[in-house]
Amino acid sequence: MAIVRPKEAYHERTTREMSAHLRTPEWSTRQKVALACRILADEGHESALAGQITVRAEKPGTYWMLSFGLGFDEAQAANIVLCDDDLNLLEGDGMVNPSNRFHLWIYRHRPSVNAIVHTHPPYCSALSITGEPLEAAHMDTAMFYDDCAYLPHWPGPPIGDEEGEIIHNALGDNRSILLAHHGQLCACTTIEEAAVLSIFIERAARMQLLARALGPIRKLEPALAKEAHDYRLKPKAVGATFHYFARRVLRKDAGVLE
Ligand SMILES: [Zn+2]
Repeated sequence: MAIVRPKEAYHERTTREMSAHLRTPEWSTRQKVALACRILADEGHESALAGQITVRAEKPGTYWMLSFGLGFDEAQAANIVLCDDDLNLLEGDGMVNPSNRFHLWIYRHRPSVNAIVHTHPPYCSALSITGEPLEAAHMDTAMFYDDCAYLPHWPGPPIGDEEGEIIHNALGDNRSILLAHHGQLCACTTIEEAAVLSIFIERAARMQLLARALGPIRKLEPALAKEAHDYRLKPKAVGATFHYFARRVLRKDAGVLE
């Protein structure tokens, strides 16, 4: 006789088994920032020096980031620097990225956000100049369902406080945002989640552009989309996904961790 259980039982079992079996290495925050940079470079997020990854450090009001002037593909733990909440260098040899000022606005207003990834990858950038928001209409991109804001106006290069205010207001309580004429941003509780969402927002934009070549997009059924959103964001699954992408970059260059 076939075994039939309510779906909730399978969700619980999956969560339990993920907790028991999906283990990730104990990387330091610096190592995780470097890995996230390399992963995103590998995923085509490179845009010369544009884009930033920041993570809250242990001491309140301090943040880790890649030294300015380096590309994501050059990141390693040794060139991740620490700065305060006015972007003064506290630790490390390098320059604090002046474009990170708008990240500070998000951190100030969203205490649960511990990591921000902002990039200008090709498909998000292309979508960002069409005037269309991101459509989360596929199971693989359901993490953006009702969780991706849209800023339809471009406030200019985000080095001042005004841009920070505009971007954090548009982001609201969402994890992600598509920034018109600019790119994407993910603000999450962990660097793993911010990196994984950044990988998938670019894939969502690519999917949307491919699908729009054929016609309008059919939306997901809201209840199922919400279920898939939560399923895709299970922390253990996100951690395992980050670990998978990290292994790919570490196979090419284990020096990332140094
Ligand atoms: Zn930017």
